[in-house]
Amino acid sequence: MSGVQEGDSVTIGKLKQLQAHFAKERDWDQYHTPRNLLLAMVGEVGELSEIFQWKGEVKRGLPEFKEEEKVHLGEELSDVLLYLVRLSDICGVDLGKAALRKVELNAIKYPAKANKQVTNKEDEIENSSSADNGTA
Ligand SMILES: [Mg+2]
Repeated sequence: MSGVQEGDSVTIGKLKQLQAHFAKERDWDQYHTPRNLLLAMVGEVGELSEIFQWKGEVKRGLPEFKEEEKVHLGEELSDVLLYLVRLSDICGVDLGKAALRKVELNAIKYPAKANKQVTNKEDEIENSSSADNGTA
């Protein structure tokens, strides 16, 4: 087994370690090339997308989903995450560090004040279009 207990904190480092151990035990390192891992991850993104396909827009928290659909969603989200962690590891990228840096870069690129203006603009557009079709 993985040696992970219920309630253990999850870190990217722990997932990376578990994935590396999993692959080594099965002699799968030979298959875990960057390209193979990327394509496997994209396949999992497809499986994740299928869960939402044809459902239209769904509410936050997914109140209309059955319990088994939520379990399935968790599995597919995990597949994507685990391949992403493994891909990062095999590419020699510190994913945690890269993600923190990206959050900082996004904060610079999209300052909070400017974002509020965009949101207000979207509200304006939404309100004017609903007024146009007589629903407001
Ligand atoms: Mg899957």
